[in-house]
Amino acid sequence: MRRVLLLGSTGSIGTQALRVIAASSDLTVVGLSCDRNVGLLLEQASSLGVSHVAIADEAAARTVSSSLYPELRIRSGAEAAARLVREVEADLILNAIVGFAGLESTLAAMDGGCALALANKESLVCAGSLVVRRARRKGVDIIPVDSEHSALFQLIAASGPESVQSVTITASGGPFRGKTAAELSGVTREEALAHPTWSMGEKISVDSATLMNKGLEIIEAHHLFGLSYDQIEVVIHPQSVVHALVKLVDGALLAHMGVADMRVPIGFALHYPERAPMSIPELDLASVGALGFERPDGVTFPAMDLAREAGLKGDKATCSLNAANEVAVNAFLAGRLPFLGIAELVGAVLGESPAGDLGTYEEVVDVDTWARHKAQKICAGMSESV
Ligand code: MG
Repeated sequence: MRRVLLLGSTGSIGTQALRVIAASSDLTVVGLSCDRNVGLLLEQASSLGVSHVAIADEAAARTVSSSLYPELRIRSGAEAAARLVREVEADLILNAIVGFAGLESTLAAMDGGCALALANKESLVCAGSLVVRRARRKGVDIIPVDSEHSALFQLIAASGPESVQSVTITASGGPFRGKTAAELSGVTREEALAHPTWSMGEKISVDSATLMNKGLEIIEAHHLFGLSYDQIEVVIHPQSVVHALVKLVDGALLAHMGVADMRVPIGFALHYPERAPMSIPELDLASVGALGFERPDGVTFPAMDLAREAGLKGDKATCSLNAANEVAVNAFLAGRLPFLGIAELVGAVLGESPAGDLGTYEEVVDVDTWARHKAQKICAGMSESV
């Protein structure tokens, strides 16, 4: 049995991972973590017989009566998930925490030498050089869970890294594909959350609508596969059937295809290096009919180019970009910032961000804190003028 520690178990990736694990006779869960959805966490823990849990939100953790759950060992607070990583023995950690909050657990997994299935792309966006350096030093495998990167991981392994000339990741284009900036000025939270092909959490759905998600994925691919930024291309592909492609030195182009179902990359990561049968809907190419590809519209959706620009400036800039984006997305979801304000806010913070790499977790936290404050200040000014 492979013992899995599942961080972020109540989110979209977490709940889908539990369905994959339930369908497998090789996987067992040894620990769970959540931000604040304590009701679901307790349900998961009791149905799986898990005794080690972490709850990031202290107030939510206080609502759990220890007399009702005497068998449960609860850790709480911002560092609770990372403590779970340090204290519970596992064969694989699936990090599906949303945002910067997932970084500490990623670094703890590296320190413990435990294989990591990584769905928290922000770990690589905020501190990619640090994470990759530590993984290499400890001999830790990072298996990407992001669908495009899972596809690239498989394609690059199949063709041999030395044969790869460049890679392409696809983007569905999100709910606002084909719209102009003028048409997007008044879009609502509900419209932004209505993703056409993938079922995902709120943060990543908004990131997909702005195309920031694809920008973060460019940075993620740069670190995961050691590619330069000009080796990573993006193409809009509304059907979400092709997830990624690699162009080889001899001119061949290999594509990874499949249904848009996150259980596929989750299942791949949980079973790696084995392959396990999965019961998911089959891809019927004839009913898909045609596959379309378009160039991204960088004028209406500037976020992706901002991410590329940050990537070229180094980890301090990508960390600032991520922090500003988290602040902006939260403000948009709370109705305090218009949709187009997200990229505007991120661009403003990035313009003032320091450049260069980050050597320690403490340095990452400092840059993240600086960028969050900066973003909040600019955001307050922008909300006043709304
Ligand atoms: Mg993705």
